[in-house]
Amino acid sequence: MVPGARLVILGKQGAGKGTQCARLARHYVVPHISTGDMLRAAARSQTEFGRKAKEFMDAGELVPDEVMIGLVKERLEYEDTALRGFILDGFPRTAAQAEALAELLGERELDLAIDIELPTEEALARLGSRRVCNVCGAIYSTDKAPYVNWTCDHCGGEVVQREDDQPEAIRRRLVLYEEQTAPLIAWYLEHDKLVTVDGLGTPEDVFRRLVGALEAKRQAT
Ligand code: AMP
Repeated sequence: MVPGARLVILGKQGAGKGTQCARLARHYVVPHISTGDMLRAAARSQTEFGRKAKEFMDAGELVPDEVMIGLVKERLEYEDTALRGFILDGFPRTAAQAEALAELLGERELDLAIDIELPTEEALARLGSRRVCNVCGAIYSTDKAPYVNWTCDHCGGEVVQREDDQPEAIRRRLVLYEEQTAPLIAWYLEHDKLVTVDGLGTPEDVFRRLVGALEAKRQAT
């Protein structure tokens, strides 16, 4: 395994992006850049920006492109991403964001955009049972709770259901995914960067498929 990777992970809500991106980041020793986690941290800090972002998030709406592009641009300027790369989780989400990302990266081109494919029925079931740590973002479920009384195993934070994992917001987010994010799959296909992996099975199964996809691409180039 070569350390370092420049990956975008796509997939509808519930496809397992957060879990898999955290594992990929450990495996390739690169930062996990989750725009959702960045926005939730801003919301917790109660800044003006955080309060506005929270309104979009709680309604299941997308935060405007210019805001998101600015946020990611700033993060990609840190030295860690220049040295080894990144796993981008939740960005890009629109064609405009994908164009902006390609421009930001310039010669540091992406290795791949990997789409984790999952039937909507399965995604809905997973989102309904998902629970997250409201401090570090670690992901649990009603079937796989933390060891002690909904307290995070990693940081001791409270493990809760996300506001946007309520049924109304879930429906809105899945509609937006089909409208805005699914076309990204076509965009990356056209740019010869797309690989699709099956999101069904255990987290270990899906992780093996993701690493296999990147290694196959590296061997082919
Ligand atoms: P996530 O944790 O990736 O599901 O993101 C949670 C919420 O944050 C989304 O439903 C959006 O409201 C917002 N968000 C995260 N990433 C983006 C993005 N790239 N563009 C617009 N909104 C975003």
